[in-house]
Amino acid sequence: MRIANVHGRVVLVNAAGRALDIEQASGGLFGADPQALYPRWAEFRRWARETGHETAVLAPQPFEPEHLGSPAPLPRQVFCVGLNYRDHAAESGFAVPDTLPPVFTKYVSSITGPVSTVSLPEGGHTDWEVELVVVVGKTARHIEPAHAWDHVAGLTAGQDLSERITQLQGPAPQFGLGKSFPGFSAMGPYLVTPDEFTDPDSLELGCSVNGVQVQKGRTGDLIFSVPVLLARLSAILTLLPGDVVFTGTPSGVGMGRSPQQFLATGDVLVSYVEGIGELRQTFTAA
Ligand code: ZN
Repeated sequence: MRIANVHGRVVLVNAAGRALDIEQASGGLFGADPQALYPRWAEFRRWARETGHETAVLAPQPFEPEHLGSPAPLPRQVFCVGLNYRDHAAESGFAVPDTLPPVFTKYVSSITGPVSTVSLPEGGHTDWEVELVVVVGKTARHIEPAHAWDHVAGLTAGQDLSERITQLQGPAPQFGLGKSFPGFSAMGPYLVTPDEFTDPDSLELGCSVNGVQVQKGRTGDLIFSVPVLLARLSAILTLLPGDVVFTGTPSGVGMGRSPQQFLATGDVLVSYVEGIGELRQTFTAA
């Protein structure tokens, strides 16, 4: 099953890319707010199954990708995982983490939908990081990896845009601030439930700048897989329905290239995750 956020309303999306408004289809049982669906995720899945919407979206309406917001527009917690692919840790000059990767946040004001125009911070070095993003569908505390997928509502594609000068300046890195300029956390186009994938632990992801591919990886190469990440996070804190986890980026970021390359005015960044879809960011001057 696929859901999306069209003009702030949560919809079911069929294979032809057409949408059914969930509040209307459910006669008001579920509201329009995409974020409010996650605390009722099990009930929503049951409703979709029993009404047949899970397999056939009835009377679907067309929409444009430009009208999509993030499938999780206002999560209570956003987790971002650093150094979760060996090649990316190497290009960043760091050792591979053993028990716990670096975890930080992207502040929620930076979240946008899949198609956006992003203003480049003046004097900055804005870099790309395509990532698989997990949206939590069930409260998780002290869970085992074997049960972790039961706590996932679905997967979406994400861009962890990062301004490297802000991120790395000062006596301690400023990951949260360097990655939270407006528009720096694109997500979408859809939330896809784990059962839609042949193997949700092995998906290709990548991105291109002006049509030239710069990143390409597979989530099967994650050092900490989705189930292990959720288990390790839940050993420390409580994961809440609707929380978002950016799972880390593969190699090929601009900072790790020789010579280094950063986003410039007029650049178009297209990011994808297999089985989910595409994000498209266009960059302008501040
Ligand atoms: Zn990242």
